[in-house]
Amino acid sequence: MSEIHKCEGIVLKKVNYGDSSVIITFFTDEFGKITALKKGARSPRSKTGNILDYLNVVQIVFYSKQTRDVQLISQASLLKHFTVIKNDLEKYKYALAVIELLERFSVEEEKHERLYKGTVRILELMDKTASLPLLLFTKYFVFFLKEIGYEITLAECAKCGAPITKAPIGYNFETGALCEKCMQSQPLDFIFTQELYELFKALRTKDSSVDYSEFRLKKLTAFFEKFLMYTHTEFKGLRSLKFY
Ligand SMILES: [Zn+2]
Repeated sequence: MSEIHKCEGIVLKKVNYGDSSVIITFFTDEFGKITALKKGARSPRSKTGNILDYLNVVQIVFYSKQTRDVQLISQASLLKHFTVIKNDLEKYKYALAVIELLERFSVEEEKHERLYKGTVRILELMDKTASLPLLLFTKYFVFFLKEIGYEITLAECAKCGAPITKAPIGYNFETGALCEKCMQSQPLDFIFTQELYELFKALRTKDSSVDYSEFRLKKLTAFFEKFLMYTHTEFKGLRSLKFY
């Protein structure tokens, strides 16, 4: 028996299959990450070929069978596309990094509506506002880590339990945040200076009075990437940030 499903999703990945088909990975509102085959999507007469492109938000109808790993798409229609992002190399780079995070770290067929909505929202902001794409990406990264269960918190020292209110703050991937005193005697993977601490706090709020220097934002995103490399040893960093 096969079941018919209808949902909306963001196109994360696209791989050619056979002569004219494509296998697409989506992050959907209803089913989380799914992989599905669209037959004939690359044939010149196909209407869905262009629709099933990176970053597009589409509505799909697909058939699933328990005996099959890959589902079959029967219909696809375009809901949102991000023209500005696709024509701006800087925006495109960070938008690809967003979907790379999802493709790499979200769980197959696990519904996560907040993550879905948050991702569509950040892509819309990248497309429609003049905000620095790197800033939006850094904010998204903080949100993403929290949503997948790896929230980075600096509220209290992982060793002595004291509340942390000021920098410098040490960070050890194994244990967590360390106060100024405890960080002296522990191996550290990262140090939050006062500026980085202020920035990190501001990223989690709507505060816009903080100095969003590119240099500091890049320091933070590199730290988040390293953290994921520590928790997932086979992960070697975000390709989108290396190649563009
Ligand atoms: Zn301490």
